[in-house]
Amino acid sequence: MVDRLDSIDFDIPDNLLDEIQHNIEHIIRTFDVPEENKMEVIKQINYIYTRTKYLSVTDNLTGLANRRNFESAFEKEFLRAVRYNSKFTLVMFDIDHFKNINDTFGHPCGDFVLRQIANSALQTFRKTDTVFRFGGEEFVVILTETDIKQAIIPLERFRKTVETLGLTYQDKEVEVTVSIGACQFSPDMKTKEEFLQKVDETLYKAKNSGRNRTILCDFPEGS
Ligand code: GH3
Ligand code: MG
Ligand code: MG
Repeated sequence: MVDRLDSIDFDIPDNLLDEIQHNIEHIIRTFDVPEENKMEVIKQINYIYTRTKYLSVTDNLTGLANRRNFESAFEKEFLRAVRYNSKFTLVMFDIDHFKNINDTFGHPCGDFVLRQIANSALQTFRKTDTVFRFGGEEFVVILTETDIKQAIIPLERFRKTVETLGLTYQDKEVEVTVSIGACQFSPDMKTKEEFLQKVDETLYKAKNSGRNRTILCDFPEGS
């Protein structure tokens, strides 16, 4: 039963999991579980609870934090920046001509490429940064305590790492590149949606100016 959880796309309302955990003790007390089995039942429920919670915030294919996870992390970081004027940079990157990779080498190869890119991103960025799979072949990264000038170095390193990965799938070479857009938080951004939109537009510019490149928003005044 637990294995089947892996194939389900989770959309669990906020707080539901915490509510479930809260009720575990109550369930144990209410049901007539023999005393000698109680520890085992609690262990099983805790395992399923923990696994479900993990799956609800994790992308199954790449193991990265998922979109749901991004929404809450981004909100927190945005509010923190508004309140404390902390620096942070939001990054969006998208695999170039990914549809061609699927069409030429097959969908399993596309999945393999997604996993390799996810691994490269995890290895490139700091442990304090978080890489999320935003959807399909699009990813976002939250670079905490990082302004746009500091972001250039890891972003270009990542772009070049992908360009030179030299992936092979079933003895065939698969060339992969990514386009990257990034903006630093600035206090004139009123909502996180506005911020995300700005980063998305920057990624779009990277695509339109030839792909396999990093485009950054203008530096905010005074930085
Ligand atoms: P561009 O350079 O403009 O980004 O072009 P693109 O081909 O990368 O973009 P497009 O949006 O046309 O195609 C994205 C493709 O990604 C289409 C979709 O089938 C594929 N895709 C999305 N999710 C997955 C997945 O989980 N696995 C695989 N193999 N393919 C996926
Ligand atoms: Mg793409
Ligand atoms: Mg895309």
